[in-house]
Amino acid sequence: MQTMHAMLFEAPGQPLRPAELPIPRPGVGQVLLKVQACGVCHTDLHIVDGELGKPKIPLVPGHQIVGTVVQTGPEARRYQSGERVGVPWLGATDGTCRYCERGQENLCENPTFTGYHLDGGFAEYAVADERFCFRIPDSFSDIEAAPLLCAGLIGYRTYRMIGENVETLGIYGFGAAAHIVTQLAKHEGRRVFAFTRPGDKAAQEFALRQGADWAGDSSTASPERLDAALIFAPIGGLVVEALKATGKGGVVVCGGIHMSDIPSFPYKLLWEERVIRTVANLTRRDGEEFLVLAPKVPIRTDVTTFPLEQAGEALNCLRKGQLVGAAVITIATS
Ligand SMILES: [Zn+2]
Ligand SMILES: [Zn+2]
Repeated sequence: MQTMHAMLFEAPGQPLRPAELPIPRPGVGQVLLKVQACGVCHTDLHIVDGELGKPKIPLVPGHQIVGTVVQTGPEARRYQSGERVGVPWLGATDGTCRYCERGQENLCENPTFTGYHLDGGFAEYAVADERFCFRIPDSFSDIEAAPLLCAGLIGYRTYRMIGENVETLGIYGFGAAAHIVTQLAKHEGRRVFAFTRPGDKAAQEFALRQGADWAGDSSTASPERLDAALIFAPIGGLVVEALKATGKGGVVVCGGIHMSDIPSFPYKLLWEERVIRTVANLTRRDGEEFLVLAPKVPIRTDVTTFPLEQAGEALNCLRKGQLVGAAVITIATS
């Protein structure tokens, strides 16, 4: 039996363990990928910290996979051997529930998520349902492309939720998603205000380099009234800060899958038709739209790479807020 190197999650709170696993075989409609790169996301952190219930155990985490098709399973005809594809968080849906039928497959009643219910990309090989994979634009290297697959896709969906008439956009939490969304927002002529952890000068300078018009501490008042705000940090208190900063009819969109409790706040902060929205997962349509748009902007991802065996270290850096931009695991050819 052929085996591969992988990093394995076995129990919440325990570090990922290097393991030698059988190379998976592609099932019906699946492709087997040789993984080149896999992005690291806050959701991976929530899974290994036990904040998201019922993961597959043991699990290979990682849901921003860039790989090359090396084998196709029965009835898998969409890709040929040698093609480069990306695998996102949405691994499969039932296709039949009321949400899938309405075009809201991101809300499917029976979804399976990559690197959560299905083994992901912190490994030399991975299998994926070909219907949920994306072709990756040629202008991105494997490493540059990896953060597009969650930070980019979910960031894009979050950004689209603000609607049309937004001139001033606040972004709370300036990591992988924010740096991509800032480039999109600037491309569309909006003014961007970046709010970071108090005193995080590195993140503030990073935001300015991405094109933000202003960057400062999330604890300080916004220098201008915001038409909309996006929250990418998993801190419920930021919802209240963002509401304080938005004007009438303002939209506050929470982009994360997990957030600490939102403190109670006076109704007048929400009054005047302000809206709080959340984003759950992604649809394939989000991915297709975003991957057409990304080379046109063009999005430039700022990446820190870690070899596969340091995946746990990458998660630790993310937990401590020590990363600027996106973290990507790179898998050497062995
Ligand atoms: Zn993610
Ligand atoms: Zn469904």
